[in-house]
Amino acid sequence: MNVLVINCGSSSLKFQLINSDTEAVLAKGLCERIGIDGSLTYQPEGGEKVKSDKAMPTHTEAIQFVIDALTDDNTGVVKSLDEIGAVGHRVVHGGEKFAKSVVITDEVLAAIEECNDLAPLHNPANLIGIHACQKLMPGTPMVAVFDTAFHQTMPEKAYLYGLPYEYYEKYAVRRYGFHGTSHSFVSKHAAKFLGLDLKASKIIVAHLGNGASISAVLNGECVDTSMGLTPLEGLVMGTRSGDMDPAIMEYIAKKEDLDIAGVMNVLNKKSGVLGVSKNLSSDFRDLEEGMDSGNQYAKAAMEVFCYRVAKYIGSYAASMNGVDAIAFTAGIGENSGTVRKMVLSYLGYLGITVDEEANKKRGEDLVISTADSKVKVAVIPTNEELAIARETVALV
Ligand code: ADP
Repeated sequence: MNVLVINCGSSSLKFQLINSDTEAVLAKGLCERIGIDGSLTYQPEGGEKVKSDKAMPTHTEAIQFVIDALTDDNTGVVKSLDEIGAVGHRVVHGGEKFAKSVVITDEVLAAIEECNDLAPLHNPANLIGIHACQKLMPGTPMVAVFDTAFHQTMPEKAYLYGLPYEYYEKYAVRRYGFHGTSHSFVSKHAAKFLGLDLKASKIIVAHLGNGASISAVLNGECVDTSMGLTPLEGLVMGTRSGDMDPAIMEYIAKKEDLDIAGVMNVLNKKSGVLGVSKNLSSDFRDLEEGMDSGNQYAKAAMEVFCYRVAKYIGSYAASMNGVDAIAFTAGIGENSGTVRKMVLSYLGYLGITVDEEANKKRGEDLVISTADSKVKVAVIPTNEELAIARETVALV
């Protein structure tokens, strides 16, 4: 079956058409600047990537262009919509309502809408994408795959904050975690790749991208993760602060004459490695180059980032009373041997020894620990679209 995977943002929409039998990507692309002017980038399997301007006042036009491209006589990969068996939609927040992916019904749509408060920038956009697809592809089954679902197995002690309990009861304030599709995919794949029994394993997944999070996966289930009510908590990220003393907010608000929205903007967009590096870059390629050429702020950003990752790995080894494997994934985790090496330099006490040569490679399934290392360390490229396609096929 061919599955159309849709990841819809407020002004953009990423898509892939995946053949679920061969798991080949038949075509992929991106609509940008929806509601502003609009462009479609489209690439069929083995073909060239072509970007063209298209008027996209709403997501409905954007999805119509995607369908047109997929079924085009020259560049299309299917003859008609009939060859698309299902659509898998990424939905950011499923609150406590969704611990698994679900087939989309009217009740499901209403329940997703009830989670809008928890992800006001993302969920409404995800819903717009679903509605637009339903309009253009009536009769095609659709599935919602949630970023938060995999983390719903966390025990209460991991998801409750040290706040008045009423905030949890009244406002659903708790740890939810994000990147769940990736943590689920990578933990399962890591177990298989490393020859571990998933159901009897302790795996730590470090999803290190522009947004970054870590999870502790015990016997195949998430027991803790670093992002919280929102994706701001946890690791130091590209532009997000991650964990910090909450009192800093009031202190900075007074010093810089900012209101809450102003402080939140700083914490989300001007902090992280971008802020620490004095605005050099949020991209680790630039930071590594900066560090190598003696820029002290780039070095500080790299060190702060890697130290935080190492601290989380240590705390999750404590949560699970041990660790069998650590899997690095996402843009930085898959590509930066320097970051992996810096993180692992803190973890000798776990009996980890690094295979320096293997660690220089990137972008493929790799074991980067030595044969006698007590904990296996791997690089596992994540593939959220494939994970969404698999979940979709399993449900329809
Ligand atoms: P997101 O999905 O959160 O936008 P990605 O997982 O795509 O993030 O990761 C993007 C980040 O990966 C970039 O900002 C960059 O820091 C990092 N990255 C990509 N390639 C490399 C590389 N070769 N070396 C170091 N870092 C890299």
